[in-house]
Amino acid sequence: MSVILYQDKFLQREQGLVDMEDRGYQFGDGIYEAIRVYNGNLFLMDWHMERLVRSARELRLDLPYSAAELTENIKELVRRNGIDDGLVYFQITRGAHHRQHDFPKGVTPVLTGSASEMVRDPDRTHGISSILADDIRWLRCDIKTLNLLGNVLAKQAAVDSGADEAILHRGDTVTEGTSCNVFIVKDGQLITHEANNFILNGITRRFVFALAEQLQIPVIERDYTVDELLAADEVFITSTGKEVTAVVKIGDQTIADGEAGPITRRLITAFSAEVERVKAGALS
Ligand code: PMP
Repeated sequence: MSVILYQDKFLQREQGLVDMEDRGYQFGDGIYEAIRVYNGNLFLMDWHMERLVRSARELRLDLPYSAAELTENIKELVRRNGIDDGLVYFQITRGAHHRQHDFPKGVTPVLTGSASEMVRDPDRTHGISSILADDIRWLRCDIKTLNLLGNVLAKQAAVDSGADEAILHRGDTVTEGTSCNVFIVKDGQLITHEANNFILNGITRRFVFALAEQLQIPVIERDYTVDELLAADEVFITSTGKEVTAVVKIGDQTIADGEAGPITRRLITAFSAEVERVKAGALS
């Protein structure tokens, strides 16, 4: 039986009733975060909180709790569910009100959160396949909102064609994956889309920048094209759930001989070493 977070209360899963007129249902009017848990420790929680606060500000949504209060409640949620390796998901909607487009006055934002087990595959070097898909999303992909239909449709197109992921492109420019950032490796350098309104500034993306610096691998943030993607030496994705994962096939084309390439492997090894430190309680 799982325990959920509802506002600042811990409830049994089936006690968490949400109003049918919640603006999350009506408009996707809300924001969320997903945080990795290693050995009961929240990973990069401060960065997630920073991003949540930014998302809230951009949507003019008043957060009902401070980042510190939320962090404490989420730690407690993990503890109450006895999560070892897992994932916390929580969202905050603008609140419940009879349907109107503009912000209703006097509504209270609604927070719901859950924590679940997510076993980490110790072999991180297996690659995934991807298709290419048109990026049909709105122009504020930097905000982590509940509106994810463009992502959902592209991911379903990937699944329908037997692939694991869809890499999105606006015209010729590669933006990101349906729930991940995309990096290419060319001549020993990492290239990834700059963090502007066309992509979500991933926490794992940011963490990979730090790992790359330690490993003295240069990182360039710039637009790159679908042709550059297909001609890359290596391609990998980053996300909270997938960490660093190689992409070895895009459409019909094999990338990096169908295996995680050397730079991707170095990053995976460095990432795993950090995870071990987090597990030992050294980092969060
Ligand atoms: N882009 C999109 C569209 C996403 O949904 C996600 C996952 N939340 C990411 C990138 C990766 O972000 P993070 O590393 O913070 O999980």
